[in-house]
Amino acid sequence: MENVHPDLIRIELGRVNAFLWTGEGGPTLIDTGYPWTFSKLLDELSAAGVQPVDLERIIVTHADLDHIGGLKGLTELSDAPVACHTVEAAYVTGRKSKTLRGVRGKVMQGIIRLAETIYKPHVDEVQELLLEKETTPEGFTVWHTPGHAPGHISLHHKQAGLFIAGDAIFNEKDTLSLPLRTFTSDEGQAIESLGKLKRLKFDMACFGHGPCITEHADEKIWAFIEALDR
Ligand SMILES: [Zn+2]
Repeated sequence: MENVHPDLIRIELGRVNAFLWTGEGGPTLIDTGYPWTFSKLLDELSAAGVQPVDLERIIVTHADLDHIGGLKGLTELSDAPVACHTVEAAYVTGRKSKTLRGVRGKVMQGIIRLAETIYKPHVDEVQELLLEKETTPEGFTVWHTPGHAPGHISLHHKQAGLFIAGDAIFNEKDTLSLPLRTFTSDEGQAIESLGKLKRLKFDMACFGHGPCITEHADEKIWAFIEALDR
């Protein structure tokens, strides 16, 4: 657990991050880790003084197993509504499965579906369907950044100077990169989505994978996006 911002805690769950927003409108959990890190997630929440029943909302950036792995378990312990982009709701509830391309993508798709039948991470219902530029009660503006997943969202908190990229951009090994191609539905669309983020201002950026960037994060992200255009 890492206090990355006065109102945000980064919870590392293996190779993926969940985030606990403790400011206005919270406590709100953003993403839920893998199914097998669920007990660690509960421990980390508890260490932050938050029990599942205290959660006001659970926002999921997208329906990949490393982000919704703890979702079902949490909803069994909490009445917090689940929120995601309107398009992603069918994937969060398991009514649709993300399509991956290429031979490796198809192989991974088979493995992912098998894992989903074992871990059953999907919830029956998504209570709050988010749309582009909608502002959540926590003060996050929703940015629909499809590509890695059809209904993927990133979250921008103007007042807090904070950007939560989800998997729109990775920061593993302290290097910004696109999400892994094998796990991405549409790489061209993923790049196109980043174009929307060029003018956003924030000091800190956090990612589904890798550490947060704590200073001048917007400039670093703009430079990364601009280099993709070349
Ligand atoms: Zn991920």
